[in-house]
Amino acid sequence: MNKHAEFPVVPPDGRLLSLVVPVFNERPMLPLFFERVFAVLAALDLRWEIVLVDDGSDDGSAQYIRSVIDRSPGVRLVKLSRNFGKEAAMTAGLEHAKGDAVIVLDADLQDPPEQIPAMVDCWRSGVDVVLMQRRSRAGETAFKRWSAHLFYRLLNLTSRTNIPVDTGDFRLMSRKAMDALLALKERNRYMKGLFAWVGMPTQVIQYDREPRAAGETKWDYPGLVGLALEGLTSFSVSPLRWATVIGLIAASLGAVFGAWIVVKALMLGDATSGYPSLVAVISFLGGIQLISVGIVGEYVGKTYMESKQRPVYLTEEVIENQESVRQQARHQTAGARHVKAV
Ligand code: UDP
Ligand code: MG
Repeated sequence: MNKHAEFPVVPPDGRLLSLVVPVFNERPMLPLFFERVFAVLAALDLRWEIVLVDDGSDDGSAQYIRSVIDRSPGVRLVKLSRNFGKEAAMTAGLEHAKGDAVIVLDADLQDPPEQIPAMVDCWRSGVDVVLMQRRSRAGETAFKRWSAHLFYRLLNLTSRTNIPVDTGDFRLMSRKAMDALLALKERNRYMKGLFAWVGMPTQVIQYDREPRAAGETKWDYPGLVGLALEGLTSFSVSPLRWATVIGLIAASLGAVFGAWIVVKALMLGDATSGYPSLVAVISFLGGIQLISVGIVGEYVGKTYMESKQRPVYLTEEVIENQESVRQQARHQTAGARHVKAV
């Protein structure tokens, strides 16, 4: 039954919903993607636009999207100059979106577009963020599920910003939340962390994550480990503190061990022996030192990258439906004439 049956039907409002879709070599997915998304949007009593971001695809995705744009006024394509990664592509899409609310959604249909009406209902009830939480992760290996789980736990252990478990980038944000997000100018764009940092009234909807409908995931394990490290170091400096604490513990153990050797030599007259223990201690300490230097290096590297102030992405071109561009221009001149007349 429709859960809003007791309430009056919300009248269609003039507000605009933007869908932001990062696309990287998704050519086999796109026809089905548009089919399902258009079907959902057609039934929605809102104005909408789709902002696709081509993140340097080389499989003809951009050409296909161009052909869709020729037929559909509501679709736009932001073409980046090369592959910048999903985080940068999403940032580009959010910056180009004009909507009063925006939904970020993957092109591979793992985030089912059929959830959009429920998300919009939540937004209309007044929340600024609608988070989509995965109830199940079909089509993912047990190892990926397990490692993802472990990662989220670790992340929340280290950081004060609470990043909700099992939520991805699939979410709705109001204009207010989006403007807050875009005001964060850092170049290391770990979006899940940035989203969480913004906060705002949030509602969680659970959904079943679908398997990829075609093509392959763009993530490999080294990539995921990189993203995980990025997440861990972007949102907290507690790894630095761990290094200090572990160093303190190791140094104390070393001191106790040294004292014990002296006492033993004095009381028992036992001359220095224990080459193996020496090697063990040296390699243990050496390891801790290298890890600590590595952790410090992560942060120094981050500071270096931030200090360069490079843009997060470069746009090659923005492709729009010509008819809608002409219409907008007509509206604008009509508006200007109206202002003059007044
Ligand atoms: N994506 C992107 N740039 C990249 C990698 C991925 O824009 O460098 C897009 C991709 O086209 C898809 C979304 O990000 O729309 C999610 O990618 P994928 O399905 O490979 O990730 P997974 O779902 O396995 O986490
Ligand atoms: Mg996917």
